[in-house]
This record gives sequence, C-alpha cells and structure tokens, in this order.
Amino acid sequence: MILQIALDTPVRHVFDYLPPVDASGEAPKPGVRVRVPFGRRQLIGVLVGIAQGSRVPSAKLKAAVDIMDEEPVFDPVTFELLRWAADYYHHPLGEVIAAALPVALRAGQAANDVVETWTLSDAGRRELQSPTARRAPRQRALMLWLAERGRATADDVAAAFKLAHLKALAARGWAGAVRITPEPAGFELRPSEVTLTDQQGLVVDAIAASLGRFAAHLLYGVTGSGKTEVYLRVIAAAIAGGGQSLVLVPEIALTPQLVERFRRRFSAGVAVLHSALSGTARRDAWRAAHSGQARILIGTRSAVFTSLPRLALIVVDEEHDASYKQHEGFRYSARDLAVWRAQRAQVPIILGSATPSLETLENVAQARYSKLVLPQRPGAARAPRLALVDLRKHAGEQGLSQPAMHAIARHLTAGGQVIVFLNRRGYAPSLFCNACGWVAPCAHCDARMTLHRRAAQLRCHHCGAAGPVPSTCGSCGQPLNPVGQGTERVEETLARLFPDAPLARLDRDTAAGRGAIEAVLHRVHSGEARILIGTQMLTKGHDFPDVSLVVILDADQGLFASDFRATERLAQTITQVAGRAGRAARPGEVIIQTEFPEHPLLTRLITDGYEGFAASALEERRKAEWPPYSRLAMLRAEAKDSLGLNAFLSSAAALGASLADASIKILGPATALIARRADHFRAHLLIETAARSSLQRFLARWLPQVETLDGPPGLRWSIDVDPLEVD
Ligand code: ADP
Ligand code: ZN
Ligand code: ZN
Repeated sequence: MILQIALDTPVRHVFDYLPPVDASGEAPKPGVRVRVPFGRRQLIGVLVGIAQGSRVPSAKLKAAVDIMDEEPVFDPVTFELLRWAADYYHHPLGEVIAAALPVALRAGQAANDVVETWTLSDAGRRELQSPTARRAPRQRALMLWLAERGRATADDVAAAFKLAHLKALAARGWAGAVRITPEPAGFELRPSEVTLTDQQGLVVDAIAASLGRFAAHLLYGVTGSGKTEVYLRVIAAAIAGGGQSLVLVPEIALTPQLVERFRRRFSAGVAVLHSALSGTARRDAWRAAHSGQARILIGTRSAVFTSLPRLALIVVDEEHDASYKQHEGFRYSARDLAVWRAQRAQVPIILGSATPSLETLENVAQARYSKLVLPQRPGAARAPRLALVDLRKHAGEQGLSQPAMHAIARHLTAGGQVIVFLNRRGYAPSLFCNACGWVAPCAHCDARMTLHRRAAQLRCHHCGAAGPVPSTCGSCGQPLNPVGQGTERVEETLARLFPDAPLARLDRDTAAGRGAIEAVLHRVHSGEARILIGTQMLTKGHDFPDVSLVVILDADQGLFASDFRATERLAQTITQVAGRAGRAARPGEVIIQTEFPEHPLLTRLITDGYEGFAASALEERRKAEWPPYSRLAMLRAEAKDSLGLNAFLSSAAALGASLADASIKILGPATALIARRADHFRAHLLIETAARSSLQRFLARWLPQVETLDGPPGLRWSIDVDPLEVD
C-alpha cells in the first residue's frame, strides 16, 4: 500500500510514502493528515490517494511517521473542491491544501475541538448519598452542583467555586475529568426589527424555495436596498433544519457592522475567519465550522475552502469585488469557486451586488443564474442625482472645481455630510522640476515616487521603497514642485476652504494600525466629521445615512487605461461611491469631475445607470472577444535580466504554438504596465481562447513543458487562469 501525500511545496506532483511501521493495516481515509520524513525535516501533509504501486523504487520509499487523524479534516465536497481548484488553476495541490488549513492545523494541532469537563465519579456519588467526610460544606456544595449539572468545565466551576475545592474532590477520587467534543453552541434566532417590503418578501421566498438544490441567484440591489436583510432571512431558513451557511465578504475590517448584525440576529452560532485574526482565533473558527458548531461562517476569500459538513447555503456579498481574486501565489477566484462548491454540494448561492460583474450579468443573460432585483431603498430614501462637471471649463483649486466647491458649501450649510473620493493616496503623485522637467523616480521601478508630505517622505507605491524628500532637482538643482493630487493634499485644500468643517480621511495611510479604520468610521457615524475624504476603501458597504453629497474628483483615471476591465471597474466605483449619498431622508447629489464629459461610458452611466452601462460594455466585450466571451490565462514572468526574460517568454510562446490547436491564441511577450518593479523586469504572455475546456487542455499540456525551459537566474513565473488584470 502506497500513501500519496500532498505536501506544502511548490512541486506539482504528490509524494509517495509507505504506511507508518506500526500501522494497523487498515487503509487510512483520504483527507487525513500524515506526518512524513522530508529531507532532514518532518512535514505534515494530507493523504490524497492510496495506490498499489509507485514509480519510486521501493528501496527509496520511506515510511510515513504517523497518521494524525482518524477522520478527514475536510468534508467531502471541500476536499473535492481543493483538488478541482488545484487542477483548474494549475497550482500545486500541496500549496492549495495549505491555503485551506489554518497554521495551527498544519502544525499538527487537533482538528476537533475537545474540552475537559468534570463529573462526579461513582465514589463521589456514593459519598454524596452517605457522607463519610465532615465539615467541608463548600466541597459538598460543589458535589451537589456537579451532580445536578452532570458535567462542567473548570471555567464553569471557577465561576461559582474555588478550583481548590475541585482539586480536593479529585484528590479523594470523587470527581474526575473527561475530554469530550462540545455540543453545538446553543444559538437562538432573534426576530428582525424590520418588516420585509413586498419586494424583499418575494426575493426571500424565491431563494428559500431553492434550498436543498443548486441554484445561483444574482441579488441585484443598490446599497441600502435591503440585501443584507434578505441574506439574514434566507440564512435563518437554511439553518433552521440544522444546516450551515457560508457568507463571503470582501474585507471584514471594512465592514465591522455586518458581523455585528449577524451576531445580533444569530447569537452564538456565528464564526468569523479572516487574515487579521490571531492563529488561535483562526483555529477555533475553523474547528467550529468543521465540527458543525458554527452555523454561520463569515469570512474573506480563503474561507471558501473551510470544511462545512452541513453546508446549506452560500452568500457572496459584493460579488463584483476584486478582492475575491487572489493576486499572488495560488491565484484563485473565491467567487467562482463558491459557485462550483454550491453546485457540487447541491445548495443555492446568492451573489449580491449593486454593480454586478459583467461575467455574472452574462450568466444571467444565459439563464444560468436567476436575477432577483431590489430596486428601491426602504422608506423615504431615493436614488441620488448624478451630474458631470467639465474640468476643462471650470477652473478650481487643487483639483476641486468651482461647482464642486459650491455644492460642498451648500450641503454643509444644510447640515449634510460630504464624501470626497479620490483613488490616490499620498500628497502628490509626482515631484516635478519646472525648470528642466525632471520627475523624482523610484530607483527600483519604472515609476514615479509619490510625495507623502506629513511623513516627509517620497514613497514608491509599487515596491514600497521610501526615502527623504529632496529639496532641489536631482538634475539641475532648481526647486521642486508637487504636481497633482492625492488624498492628503485634498484634505489640506478642504481644510483651507472649509475651516469650520471637521475632516476625516480614509485610505491605507490613515487605516494602518489596529482600530484605525473603526476610529475613522466612528467619527463619521457620530456626525463629528462633516467631510470624509477617501480612496477605494470608501466604496465598500458602509452605511452613512447623513451623507448627502459625493464628489468624485477624478473619473478619468479609468477611462483610458489599457486593461479591458478598467471601464467596468470605473463604473462600479462611481456607482458604489455614489450609493453613499442620500441613504436616509436627505436627497442625495453626486458630482463627477472629468475632462471628458462626452465620453460614451460616462454619459451612458449618467442616463441609464449601471445596468445601461453594463449592456454597452458587454456589447463591446463581445465585439472585441474579451471575457465573458472568451477565456484567458496569463503567464507572467519577472527577472533582473530583461533579455533573458524575453528569451524565456519567447521560447514558452514558441513551445505553446507547437502544442496549440487553431482555437488557441498566444499573444506576447508583452511588457507589463510597470515594466520594472523592485529591480525586476516584468513581461507576460496572454493565452486566449473561446472555450474553457480547450484552454484547460492546452494548459495541461503546455505548463509541464514550460517548467523544463531554461530561464535567466532568479526567474520567477506564474500562471493566472481567468486573470482579473491583464496589464
Ligand atoms: P444592503 O445590504 O443592500 O446595503 P441593508 O439590508 O443593510 O441593505 O439595509 C439597509 C438599511 O435599511 C438597514 O439599516 C436596514 O436595517 C434597513 N432595512 C432593510 N430592510 C428593511 C425593511 N424591510 N424595512 C425597513 N428598513 C429596512
Ligand atoms: Zn531640474
Ligand atoms: Zn519602486
């Protein structure tokens, strides 16, 4: 019997081992963890198969050290999901499995939660009936208490008695500890404070009717239309019969209110998994999910791999969000894998968004997904009014046009809050010499340094390099000027223009450090801050009822980008940011500043909303044969030697051409948008084809051969199936 073990190494194949010497002879179950010798170390891997023979000569086969579990550490569908994902994304299975297990489990800690509980022994019970010992009233009280409860943890005992009394009972043989798996946490469903609208009621009924089988539902509703309320209701139905629900969210740190809301509604049944948790907290949440104790698991993208043996429903909130795609290492899409998992587990999935991805909308058009719409906000709230401001006609100050300044003044006077959005942090994106045209560059990248004035630093947003701010031009010695705006500078300008309005800023610079985001959000919620300046971080799910005006400083960043998805992202950002305005009784207003007010994307967005935009964008994609009308994969590579890098990619392309059939297009080598980053040159090949299956067949033949190609020293390359970014 040969054990095939997936180990956390970049090697694509599994490793063969003999069973441990003292093994019972009974075959272990695939999915259990196994400790094996590996070089001079020992590693913990997962058993993925059992074979009768091995290609490794038997003299060289080593025996595993021990089998660490009796039962698999994944439910069957999750285990299948991991294997499917490794195949589909062409990533080593060992690394895929490692991504799914918390560090504590990879280090060998138990997969199940066991607690030590104390009970009375038989001798203890006899003693209680006919006491032999006298004058120990507290011990006797503890014995009565234990007899009544059956069992209790040491913590429970300590809450009412001294642990010394428990030890005394144990010393006399009257009480003892046993290790048990805890009962599922008693969870209680608290009633909602709101009555569903008719629309919400229809949507909840439609989704609930699909419980018990696979169905994908796009829940299309603007922010504040009541999507979360729908999730809560359907989840209540899904777990009523003992099932579990998985809720994926883009970033938990940005939406603390969501977790709060779930906890308020479902008390103890909620577990949370995300990257900012401590190792112990992750382990505990994972165990709670795996044991069935947690009825609801809320997590960020990697939570899609969590074992949930009684999965009954999946929710993907803000399904269009780019953070569902992992951008390095194992490059998977948690949204796409969630759909696969729902299908395999035969459960419904809800994809919620105010700005669905074009892929999802195409799936609706193909009738693969159903579309459920929440067109309005409950209560008095109305959709905001959008207006374009032509930056060429309306001069202003530091990127803020006259009409925008007037609008801000007007809304502040009327008691509203204002959001100013700019997706660029720092003070200014470049430091420029008027005399000779020199711009402070990053020494390690083909990029400019961003000025961070408060920190008195130049920083590279691509490689993280940082240095002091030069006082004069590096070329001619003249003084330097900051050019363009980042959020820090906008904050300065607004402070000058509106000295009476307290400001808050939310970007990666102000959000660093524990509790920083919460602190900023609190200042806005409490109403103390009147103007909120921020980047992309503002677009995610916050509920600011008093915001009545949103100003988008620069819509043009996404209009002419080379990436075919840039316009989709821009439309989503504008719509999402605009959605922060006028959520309660105040009518909202949105000002979009642009130098291209007649750009068809912007005008379509203004006149027909996101849905109108999406229709024209899909039409463009169809003509250009971009996804969702084609399938892509990207082979990215980087090395210090640019000639060697190109030679490697050219050989890979030639190799591909020799293997590809007519349906496969190989484009490139092309240099990346930032051609050099952190001293490495970057380039890629783009593989394009009409069908998923032909792409998969091609990659399966091509990649093993690419692995054998020579490259320059330090070459790194990776494959990205269904890439989100292609420049
Ligand atoms: P979304 O998830 O689409 O942003 P939420 O479910 O968070 O929307 O709802 C937005 C706000 O409206 C919340 O404060 C919520 O409590 C409230 N709300 C949701 N549904 C109703 C309803 N049927 N009646 C009244 N208020 C509601
Ligand atoms: Zn100069
Ligand atoms: Zn750099």
